[in-house]
Amino acid sequence: MTFAAIVVAAGTASRAGGNKQWRSLGGKPVLRWSVEALLAAGAEDVVVVVAAGAESAAADALSGLEGWRTATGADSRAGSVRNGLEALGGPDDRSVLVHDAARPFLDRAVIDRVLAGLEGADGALPALPVADSLRRGDDGFVSGAVERDGLWRAQTPQAFRYRTLVDACAGWTEAPGPADEASAVERAGGRVRLVAGDARLTKLTYPEDFAMAETMITRQTRVGQGFDAHRWGPGSSVWLCGVEIAHDQTLIGHSDADAGLHALTDAILGAMGDGDIGDHFPPTDPQWKGASSDRFLTYAVERLTARGGQLVNVDVTLICERPKVKPHRQAMRERLVDLLSLPLDAVSVKATTTEAMGFTGRGEGLAAQALATITLPV
Ligand code: MG
Repeated sequence: MTFAAIVVAAGTASRAGGNKQWRSLGGKPVLRWSVEALLAAGAEDVVVVVAAGAESAAADALSGLEGWRTATGADSRAGSVRNGLEALGGPDDRSVLVHDAARPFLDRAVIDRVLAGLEGADGALPALPVADSLRRGDDGFVSGAVERDGLWRAQTPQAFRYRTLVDACAGWTEAPGPADEASAVERAGGRVRLVAGDARLTKLTYPEDFAMAETMITRQTRVGQGFDAHRWGPGSSVWLCGVEIAHDQTLIGHSDADAGLHALTDAILGAMGDGDIGDHFPPTDPQWKGASSDRFLTYAVERLTARGGQLVNVDVTLICERPKVKPHRQAMRERLVDLLSLPLDAVSVKATTTEAMGFTGRGEGLAAQALATITLPV
């Protein structure tokens, strides 16, 4: 079934603490969630109504997507929708969905239900029955009960025929405008069908709604591992897990040769399927000569955050005969806590020898292994 869509993203959203449509949710802007869902469901044309001057913010939020364009919003929601309809254009019988950008978790099933519900009706809206009992309040005290039977919580997307909606919106001229488009169609005499809504379609209204929304994102747990080794050479100190330890040798490398941080960086990149440290910081590049390995690790975490990922725990094992690691383990863990913003019990640094066997046992070099657990939005 072909349809077009208008996504209303022009509000100032002061209750949610600023321009919520541009805020990151699970690693992508709130607006992008529903535009992606509409395009994936087959929307042939999506008009995103944004405040004047916000066109580049929309372009950033929706970069890489095709099949959408912007229209300029107005002072009221009704005015913004009118502008969106004008930008969209006919034909008169085309199905048009109007959706709030602040309802990011738009499911294909809801889109299908409202489009099916439009058959034989003048509009269709997704709604949920009111489950809580309702009270009227007056000055902080209950002043009466409200019967909840027959009451529904209206959501979006709401579906209409193009001409029906244009005429209904044009017919409501006084302020304030309709709270939603179904209200305008109802007042114009149209019959709007109720279809099953979706609890996940809750509108992000207050700042705390974002924390709740983050928990609603389906996440996948992943594990990555890393390994690194560096050769011992002349020196007076060594960097291990971000801590400098006085020693009668140093590890030789292009950067500071912190094998612990290198293994950990690779573990995080590995969990994301995002290559390895050498891909991102080529040893042939002179700018990384002598570099503090903190920045490699921080960079991997930034890439994880950009994808909406979260680090869960890390576990590093240093393999060497000397220096003794144990006296420095706590300092290393605390350094990693700072770099990774993890609680202390999610950061482990361990050490072992190889009982004089192999290259670490002969004192030729030091090796490090690391594991990292992450979650990513599915
Ligand atoms: Mg290395």
